[in-house]
Amino acid sequence: MSRRSLQDAPLLDSAPLAHGPIADVAPLAPIDRRYAYLIPAALSDAAQPGVRVRVPFGRGGRPAEGIIVARSDGDWTASLQPLLEVLDPAPLLSPRLLELAGWIARYYACPLGVALSAVAPRASHREAGYRMVRYVLLDRPPADGIRRTAIQQRVLDCLRSAPPAPDDPAAPPRIDAASLRGVADCSTATLRAMTAKGWIRFVERREPSRPPTAAPLPREADWTLNADQQAAAGRIIAAMQADGFRALLLFGVTGSGKTEVYVHAIRAAIARGRQAILLVPEIALTTQTLDRLSRRFDRVAVLHSGVGEAQRTRDWAAIAAGRIDLVIGTRSALFAPCPRLGLIVVDEEQEGSYKNIAAPRYHTRDVAIKRAQIEGTPVLLGSATPALETWSNAAPGGRFELLRLPNRVSGLRTPRLSVVDLREEHRERRGVHLLSRAMESGLRGALARGEQSLLLLNRRGYANYLFCARCRTPVVCPHCGVYVVLHRSTGLAHCHYCRARLILPTRCAMAECGGTLVKFGMGTERVEEELKAMLPQARIARMDSDVMARAADYADLLGRFAVGGIDVLVGTQMIAKGLDFPRVTFVGVVNADTALAIDDFRSAERTFQLTLQVAGRAGRSEAGGEAVVQTFHAGISAIQFALRQDYEGFAAEELTARRRADLPPFARLVRIVLADPRLTRARDGADGMARAMREALFKAGLRGLIGDPRPAALPRLRDAYRFEALLTFATAADLLAAMDHLRAENLLRARCRSVIVDVDPVALQ
Ligand code: ADP
Ligand code: ZN
Repeated sequence: MSRRSLQDAPLLDSAPLAHGPIADVAPLAPIDRRYAYLIPAALSDAAQPGVRVRVPFGRGGRPAEGIIVARSDGDWTASLQPLLEVLDPAPLLSPRLLELAGWIARYYACPLGVALSAVAPRASHREAGYRMVRYVLLDRPPADGIRRTAIQQRVLDCLRSAPPAPDDPAAPPRIDAASLRGVADCSTATLRAMTAKGWIRFVERREPSRPPTAAPLPREADWTLNADQQAAAGRIIAAMQADGFRALLLFGVTGSGKTEVYVHAIRAAIARGRQAILLVPEIALTTQTLDRLSRRFDRVAVLHSGVGEAQRTRDWAAIAAGRIDLVIGTRSALFAPCPRLGLIVVDEEQEGSYKNIAAPRYHTRDVAIKRAQIEGTPVLLGSATPALETWSNAAPGGRFELLRLPNRVSGLRTPRLSVVDLREEHRERRGVHLLSRAMESGLRGALARGEQSLLLLNRRGYANYLFCARCRTPVVCPHCGVYVVLHRSTGLAHCHYCRARLILPTRCAMAECGGTLVKFGMGTERVEEELKAMLPQARIARMDSDVMARAADYADLLGRFAVGGIDVLVGTQMIAKGLDFPRVTFVGVVNADTALAIDDFRSAERTFQLTLQVAGRAGRSEAGGEAVVQTFHAGISAIQFALRQDYEGFAAEELTARRRADLPPFARLVRIVLADPRLTRARDGADGMARAMREALFKAGLRGLIGDPRPAALPRLRDAYRFEALLTFATAADLLAAMDHLRAENLLRARCRSVIVDVDPVALQ
């Protein structure tokens, strides 16, 4: 990170004027620089590291927002401009979180301001503890003879009979707009029409926000840990007592009671007067984990994208004030401003959704490890199928301590897993069937016993391959060139990459062909349809991002499932993980090969993980369970190892292959993607960039392999052509040295619409 100030410029009037405090400010914008400003005496107390400030910026001195990242004493020169304003009464970011943001900016090669914005999300900028309330009051109500509608009359009556405001009994009675709409059963439009007539008016008032009114959940007692759980919890507690950084991996098969170990470790942290953060990968998982954990702890805050802004602001303030013991949430919860952090837990650490998909492209697990290092606390990663990066770190002599829970908790039996080879099934059976005979009998059995089933297909929509029966031309997205997916719910063809929706032609679009279109392939909508035809008496529901628009939708559906209102739940990977429903005894994987279709060195790992995870959803009670996995690739080792539920066997084989191919975890990757509407610009930009980078690394004597640019796996997206270059480094230290240098030399850019730099990419699309 270069630090530049006007001090450095050879100006005539650069003679020191005085000596005094200077603030180092990172603009909250994608600008890769820091700037120095002088701190006027009046702002001296307030201008601390971690506060937002307004500063004059650029040639015109336009005011812009930034965060003070450091403060020092130095010589004031006439050219050094002063801070204009300090925007926060207290630092938004502690020195430790500032340090973390600095690390993110460096490691993930993004401007410090972008990293700071991620660490101090918008909600925290609002003044905590207050909200704006909109009130309605009578202004010049109409005289008796004036005509009005029944609704308008109701509004007037309500306002006339409203009690006086407690804080100002002399003022005209008022009712807040939301309550008024409810009581008078009217719309905002009605109220607006009445203000236009001058009968009523709106006033806004800033009021302290009300504490959450939700009734406390009934308490639940902790389990007595079994011997394995106790040993694991003991190691974590010992690490906490050692008062320093330590990374531990809790490797436990599904149903081994990992959550209970987290609970005990978190309790120990709280008992020591510390706070804990528990990270979960997806909102669907949060619902259930949260519900279970909220019944155990008194002072819990939940942070995820489904939480409203007002609530979020309140939570953030309560966390910073130390009034919250446990923070649970998705990615950004990692940045919770806990003043006394004592433990970070990353559940299902192998999940791809932990990787942020916009700059800064950080991996939550890796940043969690970094935060724990900075805070000097333990970090606990949990998984039944750890990422191979994590597993190799937990090898004997590695950086992580390995804790095992090899068995399911007593009473839970390991689910029986079987594979259906779809090639054979197709040979033996006429017609198109998405669900094999083994799948059907499993579903029927569970239904007959009054038990529940989960059916997974990691693909949304109805049919994902539409083509002309005569000339075989497929229907593709005009913006991305990928196959579009027919959705029954909309009757349209959707592009799953750019979200475009097309009206499906009835005939082939190729000139002079005009053949009929064939709809082929499958998605969750089609599975749901076939299932309804097969089991008309069953209560069936679907869960994928098409039907689950809001956090409340997940909670509703899972709630219905939990009380037995649904027999079969069909869904995408949303249903594969983390769910713990004792009445589920059958789980079906409609097609285990969806990940294999993607050209990515992690495809096998993903297939293995998904298969084992979903199987783990079955048999979470004494009733036992069964899983059926359908695949066209029954012979590949990812499926075979999953069938034997042998993670370690799979990991050993896959790691050998990775080592041979020089892939992570035996190398570190940086993926650079250039995109431009003009193909030549994207291609030449990538070529030029790769050449310049090679030259720079060579001259500086730095290690790193810069691959030849090539069209990305997704060669066109949103009307832009995409080229990528893959950089390979032997170690993280090599990566950092090289990236620091390339950035300082300003080589991570090109003349095209966008350049994405993705350090440690998890998806190579
Ligand atoms: P995992 O996260 O490893 O898949 P969970 O933590 O969800 O496993 O535990 C599986 C089930 O076992 C849960 O219903 C949990 O309440 C229960 N459980 C956990 N620990 C114990 C224990 N020591 N004794 C009995 N049941 C337990
Ligand atoms: Zn598209």
